[in-house]
Amino acid sequence: MKTEKLTCMSLCGFLTVSSIQANEPAERDYKQKQLPNIVLILADDLGYGDLNCYGATRYTTPNLDRLAHSGVRFTNFYVSQAVCSASRAALLTGCYSNRVGIGGALFPNSLIGLNPQEETIAEILKKRGYSSGIFWKWHLGYQREFLPLQQGFEEYFGLPYSNDMWKYNIDGSVATPKQNKNKANYPPLPLIEGNESVKEIVTMDDQAQLTTMYTDRAVSFIEKHKKNPFFLYLPHSMPHVPIAASDKFKGKSEQGVYGDVLMEIDWSVGQVLEALEKNGLTENTLVIFVSDNGPWLNFGNHAGSAGGLREGKGTSWEGGQRVPCIMKWPGRIPEGLVCNKIAATIDVLPTLANIVEAPLPTRKIDGVNILSLMTGDQKANPREVFLYYYNSNCLEAVRKNQWKLVFAHQSQTYEGFAPGKDGVGGKTGNVQVEPALYDLRRDPGERYDVKDLNPEIVAELTKIADEARADLGDGILNIKGANVREPGRVSVQ
Ligand code: MG
Repeated sequence: MKTEKLTCMSLCGFLTVSSIQANEPAERDYKQKQLPNIVLILADDLGYGDLNCYGATRYTTPNLDRLAHSGVRFTNFYVSQAVCSASRAALLTGCYSNRVGIGGALFPNSLIGLNPQEETIAEILKKRGYSSGIFWKWHLGYQREFLPLQQGFEEYFGLPYSNDMWKYNIDGSVATPKQNKNKANYPPLPLIEGNESVKEIVTMDDQAQLTTMYTDRAVSFIEKHKKNPFFLYLPHSMPHVPIAASDKFKGKSEQGVYGDVLMEIDWSVGQVLEALEKNGLTENTLVIFVSDNGPWLNFGNHAGSAGGLREGKGTSWEGGQRVPCIMKWPGRIPEGLVCNKIAATIDVLPTLANIVEAPLPTRKIDGVNILSLMTGDQKANPREVFLYYYNSNCLEAVRKNQWKLVFAHQSQTYEGFAPGKDGVGGKTGNVQVEPALYDLRRDPGERYDVKDLNPEIVAELTKIADEARADLGDGILNIKGANVREPGRVSVQ
């Protein structure tokens, strides 16, 4: 067993001076160093404007609002790409998703997944004695080789991909090839325990039980691991369509099913916080709540709100990639803090590694340590630049501080199309986006092109983009990056 001698520093104010070995038994390590527990809650397709503390109306999110009040609320927080699998790959590896070869959303017949050679947050924390559990949506490969137990997690219970990847229409009927060729060919939607399928999700009543089912698992996980440091990852299936709430919340909001579902997710967060409190873990737990991408706007009353930002899921406009993010860590994160600096899900891994003094992955990552932002250092700005990739590997825009330079590209658009209703999606279009520079300080809606007024800014951001293209590539210009890696692949299903 490889051991590593570490000289202890005052880790986040909790630690005393001693020396430890990296792979010592977890419980002793925990007592000596008070390594914080990590709870990472990821909502699916929840938009920038979907929580009361980000402007939502007609339903309530009191637990998330309290979480924000007792910690930090980020206002310029980004996902790597505005689609499920790519976003999750980035969150768990600290890399832009194109660096690790994951783009778009993986489907039930995909033969690729997150390469097991990539190091996930769970694997990084494991080096410091953490136990990790994931309860719900994985979406980084359905093949056994790619499932969570093979990627650093000890416990897994949930769906392997999105809850709409089943053969049923919203009214419960089976989709015909004429209605939807993909849907008609989908295999049963499995609920997985460990590596095995244990149940098929068949009806909307089944879907309505999901949030409560995995919340119970999360609470049990906290109870079970209260004496050891743990990483609890809770990637919700909802409010990704099809949406349904349990009887506890059915009809409780003024915003129909979507509001009911948001209230149930908020309740779930409350249950987790209560379990931490009951077990005396509140003070020593970092809780993070974030979404995987913006709202799927063509689902109308079953979709969320981008809070006035442009477009939504499946685009590199702000409505697609900017999401709510809240973090709470008593004694370390000041209460009521608002952070307006740029930060991103790719920064979570290196920040956690820094907090627990674990080594970073051996392969190149893109995230930076944002602990200074979390603790309220007003002068800190660890992430000045963010790259907006989409369609696997297309560099569609780059941001530095308040400036966002958009490059010519093809984009999905919701604008000009009537949304759908009650679980049936409306049409979307495709448009050619022309180059533009936006000042997000005064124009977060990206409406006023100011490139002609700011040629020096355009030149600076173009240089940043060229460096990114050499490193990560750019499908728009047919540039293959020097440092992109392959996903995991299996040859047979
Ligand atoms: Mg999503």
